[in-house]
Amino acid sequence: MNDVCYPKTQPMLSVAQAQAAILNAIDSINAQEQIAISQALGRVLAESVYSPIAVPPQNNSAMDGYGFHSADIIENQSFTLSIVGASWAGKPFVGTLAKGQCIRILTGATVPDGVDSVIAQEQVSLINEQVFFPSNTAAYKNIRPAGSDVQQNQLILEAGKTLSAIDLGLLASVGLTEIAVKRRLKIGFFSTGDELTPLGETLAYGQIYDSNRHLLAGLLNHPNYSTTDLGIIKDNQQLLEQTLMNAAKDYDLLISTGGASVGDADFVKQSLDQCGKVNFWKIAIKPGKPLAFGSIGDCYFFGLPGNPVAVFVTFEKFVKPALQKLSGTSVGQAIQLTARCTQRLYKQAGRQEYQRGILSQTAEGELMVELAGGQDSHQLSVASLANCLIVLPAESTGVEAGETVQIELFNC
Ligand code: AMP
Ligand code: MG
Repeated sequence: MNDVCYPKTQPMLSVAQAQAAILNAIDSINAQEQIAISQALGRVLAESVYSPIAVPPQNNSAMDGYGFHSADIIENQSFTLSIVGASWAGKPFVGTLAKGQCIRILTGATVPDGVDSVIAQEQVSLINEQVFFPSNTAAYKNIRPAGSDVQQNQLILEAGKTLSAIDLGLLASVGLTEIAVKRRLKIGFFSTGDELTPLGETLAYGQIYDSNRHLLAGLLNHPNYSTTDLGIIKDNQQLLEQTLMNAAKDYDLLISTGGASVGDADFVKQSLDQCGKVNFWKIAIKPGKPLAFGSIGDCYFFGLPGNPVAVFVTFEKFVKPALQKLSGTSVGQAIQLTARCTQRLYKQAGRQEYQRGILSQTAEGELMVELAGGQDSHQLSVASLANCLIVLPAESTGVEAGETVQIELFNC
């Protein structure tokens, strides 16, 4: 575990500085396990995979048609060959072709010796057991060569790859039943706040429902993460210290929400000063300025802001890359698209803003974006309508209607 290099008292960090400091502080886990590929979706490969076989193992036909040898082609003339057998997928033709002979062959069927070309059935006519080939019949067509997808001993998946459905299909295509993956990350999360009420209870005066734990549970829903909801912790230093000390032993990473801004609920800072090495940062980001990051023993810790939309944005920008690095997989960069903004956007210079927007496409294909609604960081209902974040750089002082902006898609 590397030390976070920024001092505790400091000016605001840029988003990029905070991301770099977090990634620099995190060591990837090493522990690995052998699992069935049926269990491997979303898991991180621990060792590179080389194919034990060629795929396809033999030449096979890409069409339903007739297999023949190119030596039988008569240039610029039609010709006739007699059918001497058939090759079906799973039931290959056994035998050899003599001059003047062809076989019926179906898609995926093994191409036997003596056949180097396949013609599609629509291109020929058939009378009795004779096939009439047209004058423009081409040689060597419609055959998928052995190894044309994967060669024997070819590197097919690199260590560190997060396995997709396509990767599982690829592993199956080369006959592998098990692979080595990194162990799943153990992640605990909890909310802090005296005002929070769990679902199922009636709201007392001055209370709100705890939305952050449900938001986080959704954001953390990933086959590589084993998550535990640790509940609501009251604004009480002792309780929080106990929770942190106990949980740090069980998890690779802990996430709390609320109480992260210094001076507001100092008990979080004091608790963390007691039990870990945690920095309280001010980051030039909106929403989500206050963020705590560090470690408690061998457990990484994120203290996210309390407002739910700030939780979403700081999770995407800081926690997600941290989880990817910790998992041992590559850290993804959000892809930015350029869209025309249909309305004026207000902003003060200073912080990088992620405004919640709705992206659409005109009939001509142009990307257009508008605000999804109000931009206060408690407005989950607006974030729910949005399908993108409009990224406004720190120095921006707003955008006029009709100007272009950068956006990052989510939820689609
Ligand atoms: P805090 O950072 O604790 O001062 O919280 C900032 C704002 O977020 C306050 O309005 C809190 O009520 C709100 N908040 C904190 N935690 C949650 C939560 N778990 N669910 C919904 N709102 C929350
Ligand atoms: Mg609070």
